[in-house]
Amino acid sequence: MPIYSFECAEDNSVKDELRLVGDYHPPKCSICGADMERLFTPVTSILKGSGWSHGDWAKLRKRSEEQGTKFFKKQPKYQEMVKENLEQKSKEV
Ligand SMILES: [Zn+2]
Repeated sequence: MPIYSFECAEDNSVKDELRLVGDYHPPKCSICGADMERLFTPVTSILKGSGWSHGDWAKLRKRSEEQGTKFFKKQPKYQEMVKENLEQKSKEV
């Protein structure tokens, strides 16, 4: 069974739960009791490409490192690409 990650929009706490495939029903936050939102993998989120700020990026990278994902370290070119993308976005604003 896959492990899905969920994040609380209120306090940004993250919870990993073992779920049946396709079961994305959000759990309640164990801290504040709000519905949590499913976190997608970093790759999927970046490719969807909506509304990533530098803060989100840093948080995302920190989290992926915490989870032992070596994705970003292994793919410096991809990291550059994302960085350029973010810089373009900040110019648009
Ligand atoms: Zn919460």
